[in-house]
Amino acid sequence: MKKEKNEVQALKDKLFYQNQHAAQRMSNEELTECEQFCEGYKAFMNTAKIEREVNAFVIAELQKQGYTEFQPGMTLKAGDKIYVNNRGKAVIMATIGTEDIRTGVRLCAAHIDSPRLDMKQHPLFESQEIGYFKTHYYGGIKKYQWPTVPLSLHGVIIRKDGSKINIRIGEDPEDPVFYITDLLPHLADEQMRRNAPQLIKGEELNIVIGSMPFKSEKGSELVKLALMKLLNEKYDITESDFLSAELEAVPAYKAQDVGFDRSMIGAYGHDDKVCSYPAFRASLDVTTPKHTSVIILTDKEETGSDGNTGLKSSYLKYFLYDLADCFHANGRAVMRASKCLSADVNAGFDPTFPEVLEKNNCAYLNHGVCVTKFTGARGKSGTSDASAEFVGEVRKILDDGGVIWQTGELGRVDLGGGGTVAAYIANLDIDTIDIGVPVLSMHAPYELVAKTDIWAAYRAFKVFLES
Ligand code: MN
Ligand code: MN
Repeated sequence: MKKEKNEVQALKDKLFYQNQHAAQRMSNEELTECEQFCEGYKAFMNTAKIEREVNAFVIAELQKQGYTEFQPGMTLKAGDKIYVNNRGKAVIMATIGTEDIRTGVRLCAAHIDSPRLDMKQHPLFESQEIGYFKTHYYGGIKKYQWPTVPLSLHGVIIRKDGSKINIRIGEDPEDPVFYITDLLPHLADEQMRRNAPQLIKGEELNIVIGSMPFKSEKGSELVKLALMKLLNEKYDITESDFLSAELEAVPAYKAQDVGFDRSMIGAYGHDDKVCSYPAFRASLDVTTPKHTSVIILTDKEETGSDGNTGLKSSYLKYFLYDLADCFHANGRAVMRASKCLSADVNAGFDPTFPEVLEKNNCAYLNHGVCVTKFTGARGKSGTSDASAEFVGEVRKILDDGGVIWQTGELGRVDLGGGGTVAAYIANLDIDTIDIGVPVLSMHAPYELVAKTDIWAAYRAFKVFLES
């Protein structure tokens, strides 16, 4: 009887798919490395909260590491490192490989924009002696999550003469923060009967920015006047300068360890900086790859990738053409031979809400980076659906590299779904597959990820770029 049981177990071990918790598979040394990597990630998250700040952070680091700005027609050889700054909001970085560029490049694409609240072009108003900014939310948010959260303000103002002011208020401990109000429960009976999407309406996401009037015996809009005077003294702007500004409100929270065991990180904007940062770091650490490595940190994913800093535009395609030209190679042929990891987060299984995911085909916290063959919604609509052959290749690269990984779909069939930039890259005739870190509470002001999964993402990008 005992023998038979052992036989069954042995056969199961041999034939069934296994996927253990990462901690059961990582050595203590690797867990320490993972911990150190995540310290760097938290510091990055507290420095770079919006796409412009990630762009500046990355480019400063690239210049320190000897990367030069790409010029079409430049002479390039193996080991050379170049970058493209796309309008201060997106970056391409590349390291020339030892193999002929005609064998294709290894691409990693991730996005550096996250859901947030953008200021309108006429943001400033006063109501009952409180000063406000009007907002239009950016990306898919549950609007009710954003009131009563400390907010910081980031972005730029362009004065009429073209000069630029960088804005970042609410991140330093001595800075003020900003705030959106919600109703007290005592008076919220009517509000609580609204449907959840309207619980807080878009036009109710008004940010409180001040309450002190300009000292005067009479006059209207004195709070607005005092605020404008303050802004004029500090930044030398007038109200019309908001017309040419991009101001973004994001949660002022810091990235921080979560749990008694500190195994997770809470932060604003893990989607998709939790893939961008590991891809960036992996690229820095692969100094002379076989295939030319190209990392794209793009903007505008959260609003559908349109616009000249989003991946529906031609900026990646043009770069690859120009890069091929440097080697007198055909751009189309280079793209056709190239392979891409489209690095974006996936929904992690949340035991509190088990019904939205199918438990055999979803990602779990601490089970590694999640490879997703197809995305899309309602019959895979809008997906690039990686071929079995390419999934097989990636599977081998990850397994041979000792990467902890899993597969998963975003949600049960017909329950919703979502897309990534994978389709736009695959549409360039490049083999592309989705891969990313599982996230809980995705798109909330404070999102949750597991440290071992961040590390697994870094390891996955590194072995892919080395392949
Ligand atoms: Mn994303
Ligand atoms: Mn997203």
